[in-house]
Amino acid sequence: MNIVIIGSSNTDMVIKADHLPLPGETILGGIFFMNAGGKGANQAVAAARLNSNITFIAKVGNDVFGKETIESFRKENINTDYVFEDADDHPSGVALITVDANGENCIVVASGANAFLCEEDLIKAKQILEQADLILLQLEIPVSTVEYIAEFAAKNNKKIILNPAPACKLSDELLRKISIITPNEKEAEMLTGIVIDDIESAKKAAKFLNVKGIETVIITLGSKGALIYENDEYNLVQSFNVKAVDTTAAGDVFNGALAVAISEEKNIIEAVQFANCAAAISVTKLGAQASAPYRNEVEEMMQKSL
Ligand code: ADP
Repeated sequence: MNIVIIGSSNTDMVIKADHLPLPGETILGGIFFMNAGGKGANQAVAAARLNSNITFIAKVGNDVFGKETIESFRKENINTDYVFEDADDHPSGVALITVDANGENCIVVASGANAFLCEEDLIKAKQILEQADLILLQLEIPVSTVEYIAEFAAKNNKKIILNPAPACKLSDELLRKISIITPNEKEAEMLTGIVIDDIESAKKAAKFLNVKGIETVIITLGSKGALIYENDEYNLVQSFNVKAVDTTAAGDVFNGALAVAISEEKNIIEAVQFANCAAAISVTKLGAQASAPYRNEVEEMMQKSL
């Protein structure tokens, strides 16, 4: 199965500290490390490590971060033919991340070249998009680009997963072209206006999105797992019980793994169990892409839980 992932790629600069800084506060942090990140890239790496044929469509700067990023994708066996270098000197995307002692994080992103991934780039990638069995998207690229892909997917009968992150309001016209949407609680709240503070409110939000025309709604609920709404049925799929060290990219690993499981034609509950498992492993490790597990790790943990 061919999965095409379209989205952002950033270099993450991470500092682990006791607590997240308040405005104006300076903290002497502990460990510093750099990692390739960005929601699109994280999801591409997560999916590639779970044994899939992944093409990543993205834009980086013509700079050292961009070149290193492309090289790191190659090492993960991701097809980089459509990772474009920005011709107009926009720098590669950068994210500054602070992680506290409980694994909570705080992130600022300078999008750089990611903000210039546009329709013309996707036209260059037309052939690979036509071969795609599944397309996975997030919102760290221009909404106009997301709309273009959604339109393409609708016209060509392609299954499309939208991870609506970071939180953003979206038009009904865009939502109705999406096959599967995967907001976390905050994103679901932004899309629906429904405050999510328990399972009942999550169910209301899921139904609200389904009524907009999205066949499958999956709201991720952190350590509580994920709620599915499909065919008039709700299913709460429990998370795996692990000790969280760093929740950066939990949602990204969840989405990459979900795409792989769906492309393998697992049913939706099995697919979410697989995604919960991969995401749970990722929160036990530091970093974004660095924390994405390999297939054997996920299978071992799935076996143990039976
Ligand atoms: P995001 O990372 O986008 O904020 P969530 O916090 O909802 O999204 O996490 C995504 C998924 O990661 C969850 O549905 C769950 O499968 C897994 N996950 C997150 N936090 C934990 C945790 N503490 N323990 C186990 N699994 C977790």
